[in-house]
Amino acid sequence: MSEKFDIPFKSDLVPQVLEPNVEIPFRCHKGVSCFNECCKHADVQLTPYDIIRLKDNLGISATDFLKKHTVPFEMDKDGLPGIKLRTNDDGACLFVTDEGCSVYADRPTACRYYPVGHMAVHEAGASGEEARYFLVKEDHCKGHEEDRMISISDYRKEQEVEQYDQLNLDFMQLILKKKSAGPTIGRPSDTSLQFFFMCAYDIDRFRRYVLSDAFRASYDLEDSFYETMEKEDVALMKFGSQLLKQVLFGEQTIPEKAGVAEKRLEERKEILELRRKAEIELHQQKKEQDMKDALS
Ligand code: SF4
Ligand code: SF4
Repeated sequence: MSEKFDIPFKSDLVPQVLEPNVEIPFRCHKGVSCFNECCKHADVQLTPYDIIRLKDNLGISATDFLKKHTVPFEMDKDGLPGIKLRTNDDGACLFVTDEGCSVYADRPTACRYYPVGHMAVHEAGASGEEARYFLVKEDHCKGHEEDRMISISDYRKEQEVEQYDQLNLDFMQLILKKKSAGPTIGRPSDTSLQFFFMCAYDIDRFRRYVLSDAFRASYDLEDSFYETMEKEDVALMKFGSQLLKQVLFGEQTIPEKAGVAEKRLEERKEILELRRKAEIELHQQKKEQDMKDALS
């Protein structure tokens, strides 16, 4: 995960890594002279759990939320889709009001953390991911001048990010996996990128896919699984990450019906063969055209 991932507001600062017990001088409240200033320069990347909280807060579907309130961007050079909150032409978050954040109870992870940035890292040889924290100091933010010291871990508690971190973990692992796989998996096909978008962000479309006959014909899962997926967004979100790990990285944790893997392999072979034939044809056509050009 890049440093930009969790810094919600535009900043070119190079942060210094902080331990959780390090205390920082900071307090944000309605009486501060810069109240709302940060939300007027918002650059907020959303996690799948942020989307669930925000669309529930607004009482709309994830599909409508994505259309009305977000913009897509590419998280890496392979075009892995990310989602950011939409802003107005001046860069202000659409949820900011004179009274503050209109979705405060369900504000995104990155907004909760600010001005603490965080990222997950997977050190070589380590069994899991570790969090790294750093402080983002921007001139407009006067919260750093307030008379209160608070440790990073207490700040996380105060902002109630622990639950968010827990529910963001699968998605973060997925992003880290894609990063550390580097060129070994190469650029996913456009279909895979669209599949990633649906599984990660558009939970309504993903639910329809999971409950479809085509899905049921491919995976060997109990009726109780489908009942849960029909009702529970968070369970469906977690399953989305699990399915992406299986489809993109071959982590086989979801049982497939007999013969499905073989059928898929056959289909892939056919696609590769068709592609190979098309390339040979193109090459041949180019050769013929070159010869014609040379003779004319
Ligand atoms: S969601 Fe709320 S806290 Fe986050 S940038 Fe928008 S107004 Fe500010
Ligand atoms: S103190 Fe910082 S975080 Fe709080 S409103 Fe001001 S700019 Fe935003």
